[in-house]
Amino acid sequence: MQYPEPIAKLLDSFMKLPGIGPKTAARLAFHAVEMNEEDVMEFARALVSVKRDLVYCSVCQNISDRDPCSICDDSSRDHSVICVVQDPKDVAALEKMRDYRGLYHVLHGVISPMDGIGPEDIKIAELIRRLEDDRIKEIILATNPTVEGEATAMYISRLVKPIGVKTSRIAHGLPVGGDLEYADEVTLSKALEGRREL
Ligand SMILES: [Zn+2]
Repeated sequence: MQYPEPIAKLLDSFMKLPGIGPKTAARLAFHAVEMNEEDVMEFARALVSVKRDLVYCSVCQNISDRDPCSICDDSSRDHSVICVVQDPKDVAALEKMRDYRGLYHVLHGVISPMDGIGPEDIKIAELIRRLEDDRIKEIILATNPTVEGEATAMYISRLVKPIGVKTSRIAHGLPVGGDLEYADEVTLSKALEGRREL
């Protein structure tokens, strides 16, 4: 079926989103036609805003609307612990749990030789630089429990140890091969609590 061009264009855009196939894309595109103009404009502005108004925090590398981000800038948080995660989504998952009060570091990926991703392709150097701050006493490695996540945790642990900072790995209440962001809050909380020193 041939769609009018504005619909075809919108449909193509929806299909670029994860988990959206042609059927869903068509449903969403036709829904947009029915929406009132104000809602459509707000949606479009929100979409542009995530690109234009977000920055990467120069300290923890998380996405934020300001630099340094509200977590790094919060003096009531524990500045002696850094929890190292793969993605900004993981910070959101851990923050939802509410009982972690330390800082974060977002790697933006994991080491994966199969995909040609080496240590220099993720934010490891930025993490090591942060350790010059001698307030930092512990690094919690909370990369996903996948082969790449484990290897990345080991790699960082070997770099950090000689600096004299304690490193620990979150416990495996988390399913192997699972994603941090999909873990429920109790599992996450237990995983953090039961971390073991590396
Ligand atoms: Zn930050």
